Amino acid sequence: MPRLLIAGPPGVGKGTQSAILAAGLRVPAISTGDMFRALKAAHGDLAAEVQAVMASGRYVDDDLTNRVVAERLLRDDCAPGFLLDGYPRTLPQLDFLHRWLAERGLAIDAVIALEADEEVTARRMAARALLDGRPDDTVEAFRVRLRMYAEQTRPLLDVYEEIELLRRVDGSGTVDDVAERVWAAVHP
Ligand code: ADP
Repeated sequence: MPRLLIAGPPGVGKGTQSAILAAGLRVPAISTGDMFRALKAAHGDLAAEVQAVMASGRYVDDDLTNRVVAERLLRDDCAPGFLLDGYPRTLPQLDFLHRWLAERGLAIDAVIALEADEEVTARRMAARALLDGRPDDTVEAFRVRLRMYAEQTRPLLDVYEEIELLRRVDGSGTVDDVAERVWAAVHP
């Protein structure tokens, strides 16, 4: 029963790889970014606030994020396992997730850390900005997202390394190349 996380800097291709890996493992890929983007479709103050935070490149509030994830993990499709993409992103989120799972006798099996040079991620982000027009793919928001990642999220990798869950994967090259490396890292 695979319970996995996929992490990595903005633009590294987490979303693409998590969809491929989750399909291969037959577990749901749960992206907090996608869940928050879907919120925009609904109207109301909360949706507008989340939308504004995301567009700036900053992180959504921890308590709100934790509640959204916990609710999602309770759904039946997560019983065979799950792949969380983009969560946890802060130490309080990490603490929450592991406590929440432990209360249910569950644990994370492995953390895939996708790695690529900033040059590669910046190039991919620029290409995506042209294709999708995501509001947080502006140069300024991307700069904020890189800083948020460096300050708040990268330290989580040290935690996962310490408890021997971390599997580092080279995220450069074609989508297929990376997918093969990810699959190998999950099946050592
Ligand atoms: P990327 O992987 O390119 O950073 P995501 O789709 O994962 O893009 O996330 C987009 C935005 O959604 C983030 O910049 C942040 O504002 C918000 N977000 C996603 N996941 C989280 C999280 N775990 N905690 C707080 N904010 C989040």
